[in-house]
Amino acid sequence: MSNECIIAIDQGTTGSRVFIFDRGGQVIAGEYAEFTQHFPKPAWVEHDPEEIWSGVETLLKKALQKSERNPSDVRGIGITNQRETVVVWDKETGTPIHNAIVWQCRRTSTQCEKLKEEGHEPMIRKKTGLVIDAYFSGTKVAWILENVDGAKEKAKQGRLAMGTIDSWLLFRLTGEHSTDYTNASRTLLYNIEKREWDEDLLNLLGIPTSMLPEVHPSRFCFGKIRDIAGLKGVPVLAMIGDQQAALFGQLRVHPGEAKNTYGTGCFLLFNTGDQFLISDSGLLTTLACNAEGGPAYALEGAVFIAGAVIQWLRDSMKFFAKASDSEDLLKELDDSPDELVFVPAFAGLGAPHWDMNARGAILGLSRDTSPARITRAALKSIALQSYELVQAMENDTKERMNLLRIDGGATSNTFLAQYQADILNKPVERSGNVDATALGSAYLAGMEAGLWDLKTLETFQSDGSRFEPSMDSQRREHELRYWKRAIEKVKGWAE
Ligand code: ADP
Repeated sequence: MSNECIIAIDQGTTGSRVFIFDRGGQVIAGEYAEFTQHFPKPAWVEHDPEEIWSGVETLLKKALQKSERNPSDVRGIGITNQRETVVVWDKETGTPIHNAIVWQCRRTSTQCEKLKEEGHEPMIRKKTGLVIDAYFSGTKVAWILENVDGAKEKAKQGRLAMGTIDSWLLFRLTGEHSTDYTNASRTLLYNIEKREWDEDLLNLLGIPTSMLPEVHPSRFCFGKIRDIAGLKGVPVLAMIGDQQAALFGQLRVHPGEAKNTYGTGCFLLFNTGDQFLISDSGLLTTLACNAEGGPAYALEGAVFIAGAVIQWLRDSMKFFAKASDSEDLLKELDDSPDELVFVPAFAGLGAPHWDMNARGAILGLSRDTSPARITRAALKSIALQSYELVQAMENDTKERMNLLRIDGGATSNTFLAQYQADILNKPVERSGNVDATALGSAYLAGMEAGLWDLKTLETFQSDGSRFEPSMDSQRREHELRYWKRAIEKVKGWAE
């Protein structure tokens, strides 16, 4: 078999990964490194772009060495990244003028409240598919211009550039200044219907157009690598935000197909093809990829606390030592219906409830409530919150999802996967591939390199497991009724 290979860079929130895929779509080498999280004030989060860059450069060298491939075997590179996190750099020196402001950072909340009070939300929602929130990149860039000495002036003179992390890495790798549709769609500055940077939004936030990257499809020749890690001349052939990458990595590329990733939180994306829908339930609309790697619309919903509730039971409640022990604990329980419901609204409730004053609660405690029962209720809560997102998506699209593909760390829990199928009353397919995110960017790069087409990619999908719904309808109604009652009880708790 030929030695040709594809490199995927997966630049995440806590660490960066580099994988090397062979021609058969198998990982032949992988390297991972964490980097520093900076918390300059409560609820502020920053990353050092130089540290991210040098980390990725080192990982590229190490992974290539491990793979025993030559740089000349590398047909292309795909980049996938933590979304919304944004860097502003000086075009002349290539140096960032401030740390990257991370998606989690809340420093622009007040500005966002002001924009809402001024009545901009309906316009912004219609153009970007998003809601006004500090989470997205736009207000973070405005903050940097406002708060770094001389930045506003330099920006006006066309001397500054902005970019999400894909864009920043591309700049350091190739010298180009571009991004892709999926990342642009998370900035609050991009009109996803017209597919162009939006002048009204740029004016509203005081961001000059000269700062913006060019926007291309996720599968595109973005540029050639400079003399870095021995990869001179290798093209960057894909860039895509992490959740959209997971959707592509799971080959959910047709309208009506969806995936849910179960990590710290859950991210559910539903591909709606050419249909640009604004959700009635406060879901986001975003750009993802179609079967050719071109743009498609998707609805997106998030569960804020998913695997995190298992972390909480492990670290704060000391119920078990490892997240995977949560499943063993359930063995002592019988399966009769109970009244115990755990609503992990630690940080309020997202779609479809959108109640930031909701707080977590465990309801229905009785003498026989044990760590095992609470753990089971916590696992159920992950599936029940995801169920609500699926319901909302089906309402918005007027389409029925016939199957849900799942991936992410928490899906190794078989109880959770089965309960998800039961509560959705739909089959659930668990990906056999470890990392759908990296896979998505590698698939796109390999397609662009001419190594693979969609048919080939289908053969790469390792067999996962399939969970058929097996709960009777009466029991299902019982589970849903108690969940809905519990949700009503926790709403508006914090004043
Ligand atoms: P992230 O990318 O958000 O860090 P991962 O995909 O690595 O998340 O998944 C880790 C999360 O999954 C953690 O929150 C952990 O509590 C949860 N998790 C991992 N294994 C299990 C398991 N067997 N059962 C339930 N939850 C699990």
